[in-house]
Parts: sequence; structure tokens; C-alpha cells
Amino acid sequence: MNRRTFLKASGAAALLPLCPRELRAGSPARRLRPSDADWPSKEAWKKLNDAVGGNLIPVDFPLAACTSQPDSTSCKELFKNLKNPYYIGDQPGLTQTLGWIDAWTTKPSVYAIAARNAQDIAAGVNFARAHNLRLAVKGGGHSYQGTSNAPDSLLIWTRHMHDITMHADFVPHGCKPAPQRAVTLGSGTIWMQAYGAVTTEAGAYVQGGGCTTVGVAGLIQSGGFGSFSKHYGTAAAGLLEAEVVTADGEIRIANACTNPDLFFALKGGGGGSFGVVSKVTLRVRELPEFAGGAFFNVKASSDDAFRRLIRQFIGFYRDALFNDHWGEQAHVSSDNTLNISMVSHGLSTEEAKKVWQPFLDWLAKSPRSYTIGVPPIVIGIPARHWWDAEWHKEQHHDVFKTDPRAGAKPNNVWWNGDSGQAGWVIWAFESLWLPASLLKDDSQERLAKALFSASRHAEVELHFNKGLAGAPPEAIAAAKDTAMNPDVTDAFALAIVADGQGPAYPGIPGHEPNMAAGHRAAADVHRCMNDLRALVPNGGSYVSESNFFERGWQRSYWGTNYERLRRIKKKYDPAGLLFVHNGVGSEDWSRDGFSSR
Ligand SMILES: Cc1cc2nc3c(=O)[nH]c(=O)nc-3n(C[C@H](O)[C@H](O)[C@H](O)COP(=O)(O)OP(=O)(O)OC[C@H]3O[C@@H](n4cnc5c(N)ncnc54)[C@H](O)[C@@H]3O)c2cc1C
Repeated sequence: MNRRTFLKASGAAALLPLCPRELRAGSPARRLRPSDADWPSKEAWKKLNDAVGGNLIPVDFPLAACTSQPDSTSCKELFKNLKNPYYIGDQPGLTQTLGWIDAWTTKPSVYAIAARNAQDIAAGVNFARAHNLRLAVKGGGHSYQGTSNAPDSLLIWTRHMHDITMHADFVPHGCKPAPQRAVTLGSGTIWMQAYGAVTTEAGAYVQGGGCTTVGVAGLIQSGGFGSFSKHYGTAAAGLLEAEVVTADGEIRIANACTNPDLFFALKGGGGGSFGVVSKVTLRVRELPEFAGGAFFNVKASSDDAFRRLIRQFIGFYRDALFNDHWGEQAHVSSDNTLNISMVSHGLSTEEAKKVWQPFLDWLAKSPRSYTIGVPPIVIGIPARHWWDAEWHKEQHHDVFKTDPRAGAKPNNVWWNGDSGQAGWVIWAFESLWLPASLLKDDSQERLAKALFSASRHAEVELHFNKGLAGAPPEAIAAAKDTAMNPDVTDAFALAIVADGQGPAYPGIPGHEPNMAAGHRAAADVHRCMNDLRALVPNGGSYVSESNFFERGWQRSYWGTNYERLRRIKKKYDPAGLLFVHNGVGSEDWSRDGFSSR
């Protein structure tokens, strides 16, 4: 007797219906909304609430009150709170991005399960499947494309699942014993919590994301890059094991030895498509003595001087920075400014200064052409304190913003650089992996020209840590064993061009998205990126940081891995219960995931 037969025989099937209507032949191809006659009854919702220990909640939409009273004190307070990613993360009815013009707008689910464990998740998955509901899954809520947001849906919300366990000798279930250091994280953990436990407390390293408030399960399923990915590789490549509830309601273990196909898909195949993850176990690595970076900006006095500056920087990058020590960003701006905000791994202040000195000397030779905004900061600090908010405070380092709410935990902090994205509305966002072949001697001029012409339209951000060329062979090999587009392993950087505005919401007087400015910006962003695409026809793009309207997204996000992912999707979720915009298998559904095509 298998588990399903047993449950039916035992009468438990009445609580958790296991015979999904849409899995039968001739099944309905339209999911239910609250206005539909078949929408679950109050009694059915009550049973679900009982099954999840009273953790089914009707979802409140904090912005609703502002529509009628935009000038009220509470509305003003709300718009202040929308600049705080911790506040947003604590609301089941909000997302970190409030919308994307002409694409999506945040709207709450009808009910959310504030899940505590895999059993709660399984109850939600079974209920959604049995009642033919649209299911949404949200962790940190950082999806730019709104994939954790679905009005008229049942939401599984993992915010409270943030248990953290360190292991000295972890062996993935069913694998030969080769114990290694690891950490198990509840799927609602955000990276700041993970770094606090693994780095600040335990003096070790786990590969996660750059933004401190991103959720672990969402990032890993995207591939996931952090500031030090040029050394350690992607977050997905560090996944050793996941506990995951698949569309049939089974709680499964996925690792290299058990359900290896599902494991592959979870490593970069896109969040919310293959199952609902309840726990992840990740490799724990050695922490170097130092972490640091270089931070300054240079303004060129003319277009010609800026062209020379870009060309010089590319050569300098290839010769001095194209290695596993240097990640994060350089921005090439329309006002002829080059902004450097790069992060180093394993270099002391002296070592890092030595690296940058030739470039700074080159700038100093042309004082009339180049002005450095503020004295360059080139620094190495004890790596153990990288995410230690208390230590940075003691050192008077103004690097973090702090959750101002009464009673907030002291390590509820986020990097100053991520502030602009809390509660923002996106006007445009595009990305492209730039292959390392562009750094060859005979290609550098072409790259410099394209960057200059692209920057006439919008600011180009080069994220060096989001391309793995220059990383150690082990990191590249591990990334090749994930579902991400293999382009990532040949790329020296991910170019990102994006624009948006601070918190805004349609229908709230005084806070409406600026559509005219947004459309202008979108056209500029597209023109800008097209100048780079001319260098890399058919180049790939990072699923989590890309265009909502990405053309040929299957190839862009997953390249040659797409067909394999499609087969895995069909195996574990044949009826497409788990739908996200431009996710694997989403081509079978309408844009909102309610009707099959
Ligand atoms: C301000 C900001 C900074 C960012 N910085 C980085 C960065 O440094 N590096 C980087 O690589 N990316 C970055 N991103 C992108 C980010 O990693 C992805 O959007 C990621 O998917 C977010 O995960 P989340 O849990 O926070 O978001 P959510 O919106 O909650 O989830 C994202 C997707 O994963 C799914 N999902 C979430 N939890 C689960 C689960 N338990 N099981 C199954 N599916 C789940 C959701 O359904 C959704 O489709 C950033 C995004 C923002 C907004």
C-alpha cells in the first residue's frame, strides 16, 4: 500500500483531497477566482486553517487605505515604511517591488498560509490542486517580475521559516559518506540572517546574494550571485540538498543522489516552478582573512576624454581585476562619469591599493581631463565583520541602513546601495551577459565604443560578480552542473540597465506611477542595451534580473538547458500547478496563470 492509498483508506483524504481534478483527462483549463461559484466554501477554508495550525490568514493590502485617504497620517507613515525592506517583507500582502509599468502591479492573494514547515506547505499545495486555485509562493518577495505576486490566489508565505542549523559533517541523504561543512536554512531565511549565523557568529562563509533582504530559496532557484561569487561561484552551485513539496503534495528530498533531476532544476531553473522548497542545505566554505573593495568616481571633462577613460578602464580591468579577487560593479554614465564600486576577496588594504595604483596614476597624469569626486576608498577589512552591523557602527562606516521600527532586531540592515529599490516601481530593466572574449586585445576597442554609445542613452552597470569568467575552475565546473544558461560561465560581467521611481501605486492621488517618464526611460534603456546586444547577438540574460518582456526568454535564461528543464517540469508538475511569469512551462498558460493555452 503506497502513501496515497493509505491516506485514502484512513479517511485523511477528506482533509487533504488527493485526487486533483485538473490531473484527470478533460480537466478544466481555467483556475478559480473568488467570484466563481466553485470557489472553496467557508468550511473548506476552515478545514485548511485547522490543517495548518491556524496559520491561514486573509491577506490585508496595506495600500488599500491610501486610495481613499492619500493625505492621512497612516498613509504618509505607510509610504515611509515602503522604503524599509524589512517592513515590506513582514507584510504577506506586499512585495519589495511594487510593480513594473505596463507589466504588473502588486496585489494581494486572497489567503496566505504563514507556513511553519513542509507539512503546512503540503496542505496548501494539496488544497490549491484539489480546488483548482492559482497558487503563489513568496519568500523574501524580491522578484522584479512579480512572480511571487498573484491576485485571487492562495499564497504560501515562508517568512517565518528561518531556522538555521550548522553542520560539521553533512552527508546528503542517500549519498556516499563524504562529510562536509554545511548549513541548513529554512526557506524563508533572508541572507542577512544566514550571514549573521555563518560569518559573523561562526567565522565561515556561505554563498548567497548581495542584497541582505533577498530570500534564500528564491535566490538559489535563480542561480544567485553575491559580491564574492567571482571566488566562490553561484549560490545554486553551493546547494547540497533541498526539502521540497512537489505539486502532488509529496515532501521530497532532492540532492545529487536522491531525485537528482529535481535537484538540477532547483539549482537555477527559476523560483516557484518545480516545487515549494521548505529547507535548503548549502556548502559552508573558508572565510578569507580580508574582504574589502575600491570605491570612487571619475568625471571626464569631455566625450573624448570619457572614451579614453572607458578604454583605459577595460584594459586595466582585464590586466588587474579579471580574477577571483574582484567582483561587484562599475557604472558607465551618460554624464561622462565612471563610478567604481568594486568588492575584493582576500586582499588587505595594502594589497588592494597596490592593485589600483597604476589606474589612479594614469588618472593623475591628466588632471584637466579627469576629476575624482571624493578621495578613493580602497580598503580591506576583517572578512568576519563584512555583515557585522554592530562592528560597522563602531567603526563609523556608513554602509548600512537600519530598520527604524521599534523592537527591530539590530541586524535588520541593508546596504545603502540597495535603498533605491525598496518599494520601487520599475520603468525598465534589461540585462545581458558579456563574454570574456570581449576583453581580448583586439576586442577591447569595440567594447569601449559600445559602452560609450550605450551610455549616451542610459547608465550601464557592469556587474563583474555576475559573470564567472575569471573564477576558479572549480567554481566554473560547479556552475556548469546547474540549470543556469551556460553563458554565465564564459561571461566576465552581467550588464544591467534599469530605471524606475520610488514607491508609487496606481489610483493613489499624489503617488501615481509616472507613466510618461517611465515610457521615455524604457525606450532609452532599450536603445542603450541594443548597443551592447550588437556585440553579443543572442546573448543570455539572468532570469532574476532581466526584462519582464524578454524575447526568447527560454534561451536567454536557460540556453541549452531549457529542454531538460521542460522535461523535469512535466515529470514533477504535469498539470502546471506551479506557474510563474516566464518560468519553465509557463508558455502553456495565460500571462496571469489562470487559463491554459
Ligand atoms: C533589491 C534587490 C536586490 C537584489 N540583489 C540580488 C543579488 O545581489 N544577486 C542576485 O543574484 N539576485 C539579486 N536580486 C534578485 C533576487 O535574487 C531574486 O529576485 C530572487 O528570486 C528573490 O528571492 P526572494 O525569495 O527574495 O523573492 P520572492 O519574490 O519571494 O521569490 C522569487 C521567486 O522564487 C519563488 N520562491 C520563493 N520562495 C520559494 C520557495 N520556498 N519555494 C519555491 N519557490 C519559491 C517565488 O515564487 C518567486 O517566483 C535582487 C533583487 C532585489 C529586488
